[in-house]
Amino acid sequence: HLFRPQSDQDATHQEIVRVALGGRSYDIVIGAGLLQKAGEHIARIAPGASCAIVTDENVARLHLPTVELSLKEAGLRSTTIVVPPGEASKSLAVYGRVCDEALAAKIERRDLIIALGGGVVGDLAGFVAASLRRGSRFVQIPTTLLSQVDSSVGGKTGINSSHGKNLIGAFHQPALVLADVDVLQTLPLREFRAGYAEVVKYGLIGDKRFFEWLEADAEAVFNSRSEQICAIAVSCETKATIVARDETEQGDRALLNLGHTFGHALERLTNYDSIRLVHGEGVAIGMVCAARFSARLGFCTPAVAERVERHLAGVGLPTRIRDIPDWSADAQAILDAMYQDKKVERGALTFILMRGIGEAFIAKSIAADEVLKFLEDELT
Ligand code: NAD
Ligand code: MG
Repeated sequence: HLFRPQSDQDATHQEIVRVALGGRSYDIVIGAGLLQKAGEHIARIAPGASCAIVTDENVARLHLPTVELSLKEAGLRSTTIVVPPGEASKSLAVYGRVCDEALAAKIERRDLIIALGGGVVGDLAGFVAASLRRGSRFVQIPTTLLSQVDSSVGGKTGINSSHGKNLIGAFHQPALVLADVDVLQTLPLREFRAGYAEVVKYGLIGDKRFFEWLEADAEAVFNSRSEQICAIAVSCETKATIVARDETEQGDRALLNLGHTFGHALERLTNYDSIRLVHGEGVAIGMVCAARFSARLGFCTPAVAERVERHLAGVGLPTRIRDIPDWSADAQAILDAMYQDKKVERGALTFILMRGIGEAFIAKSIAADEVLKFLEDELT
């Protein structure tokens, strides 16, 4: 039902995806002009609440005044906490400062933390909300495509430790998510593409028709708000369905890691240097690796892997390890980096592999030397 073509003039249409988690259920509202209506939406779930808006410097400059005005018009008091942009803000130091400022602003448990920004702000503010006064309510206003289709859905929040990414955190669901496609207009193209890789992932996991729609309409998804609303809604619906089945990742939720076992290793080996590789680019390369590895192990035909690569390369995403600038790590180093992933259980490598487009599955205990041989061939 979500694939209906709409003209961009009619960008007033709105999709609502319900995340069904019993008493912690919430809506993801996807549409245009939502920043202007943020106050209205938030007042409905938390009339009279005080709000602490957590945002980064870039987003504050571009979009904060719209949200502040909207809250004010809806009769909601707000205070703003601005952090530097970038992954470095997912730290204990910044977390401590945001908590202190929220407490200084007298944010009570029934008040609201509002995360206005990309995944960095969402994860940080979400973890503040999870722990502030043993758990406060929060609203996500994701401003990157990646955060609209991925990090704002599912309730994972957290910060980084010197031992690795996302090692300190909590599951804490928001009370509401407002995904406004208008903010994507100011997003750098590279960041948009990175988020798009995660959109493609949802098609590859379990929805061949969606992948085919993307193949036919990628340009529209990059350029038109109404197609963006559709793509984000399908993505959120897919993630929400999987999360509702498996909130704390005991089973099926692992499918969402398609491309991530390879991707995380590549990110680790580039020291999370966003000049060389951003997360979604790692996922794009990782999904091509997963597809090519699946073909090599005989789970799917080489044509499936070629099709995945053609689409991702077609929108300008990197697809091979050699596409990463100044790549020097060898196959063994990549394998070692995979073993450091927190999702590796007792030494056995779990991969998300593909039997076809839209037919991903969890492959447990893949032999390390198979992976090593595959990576050696990928690097030559
Ligand atoms: P980000 O939050 O760092 O945003 C990317 C850049 O875009 C930043 O410089 C930001 O200031 C800027 N920006 C944000 N919105 C903008 C806009 N509308 N216009 C112009 N510039 C804008 O990165 P991200 O890709 O959104 O998120 C990455 C983070 O998300 C990582 O820390 C990752 O671990 C996390 N993540 C979490 C989950 C989860 O389930 N919780 C899932 C995926 C990723
Ligand atoms: Mg991801």
